Amino acid sequence: MNYQTILEEIQKEIQPYFKNGKVADYIPALAKVDPNQFAMSIQLFDGSQYNIGTVDNKFSIQSISKVFAFTLALNHYGKGLYKRVGHEPSGDPFNSLVQLEYENGIPRNPFINAGAIVTIDSLVSLHRKNSFEYILNFIKKVSNDDSITYDEEIFKSELNHGFRNFALINMIKSYNNIYNPIDDVIDAYFKQCSIMMTPCQLAKAMLFLANHGVNPLNNERIITNEKAKRINSVMLTCGHYDASGDFAYKVGLPGKSGVGGGIVAIVPQKMAICVYSPKLNAQSNSYIGTKALELFTTKTGLSIF
Ligand code: GLN
Repeated sequence: MNYQTILEEIQKEIQPYFKNGKVADYIPALAKVDPNQFAMSIQLFDGSQYNIGTVDNKFSIQSISKVFAFTLALNHYGKGLYKRVGHEPSGDPFNSLVQLEYENGIPRNPFINAGAIVTIDSLVSLHRKNSFEYILNFIKKVSNDDSITYDEEIFKSELNHGFRNFALINMIKSYNNIYNPIDDVIDAYFKQCSIMMTPCQLAKAMLFLANHGVNPLNNERIITNEKAKRINSVMLTCGHYDASGDFAYKVGLPGKSGVGGGIVAIVPQKMAICVYSPKLNAQSNSYIGTKALELFTTKTGLSIF
């Protein structure tokens, strides 16, 4: 299959859609990005990459970081993690508070904010004030790139405007499902959201999920086969919040989005894909990114269905 030609076709076909969607504006640091960017990177097991657009520009990975934190927490706690955070879709927006009260502070899944905060708390229990470094080092390892870091301005902006996330963590703490000081947990959560990566780096970093938990580029086992399956399942069912069904319907791959405008998608046994375009749909997922992935799986037949 000629992936480069397919990427070029996709870039052409998405042009009419740039009038749709809206860049995340809940923090000023994200609102100022150029709304018309588009980049897509495909990483194959043999090390070859196919790229189009601004693939070397870093963007804020935001909730895509939740996949890395979930991988680390699942690796350490196994099924025990599910006593504190579930693996069911929420059907609610990413930052919603409503379910938490009637479900006694147990978030539905690790990809909504509430669940990601509990997941980070479980890592803070292990690594205290070094939790963020622990997550960042893991990301550096799986992407084989030591230069990856976070953006201080975005981090500060998240902290200064994080009223909902503070509400979420306080509510969860009131149900005794946060074990560590709130400030330590929130600090690690906002820093992981502020990590900056290129589409190329992200596609490479996710490759272990396409290969039963082993990084095919160096044969290093990152997580067990069984847990890699679980992570992919949760990405498929919960990776796009209240648009997870829509993403599965249109794209048919496990995927995870972030409000920065990135989406990663996994093609089992074949590749990892990252697409970036910052204008978002009503459920805060990249509008063009979803469209581009839909075109990709339709053109190539590479969906899991
Ligand atoms: N930093 C964002 C928040 O906590 C992450 C959400 C997202 O990417 N969906 O609100």
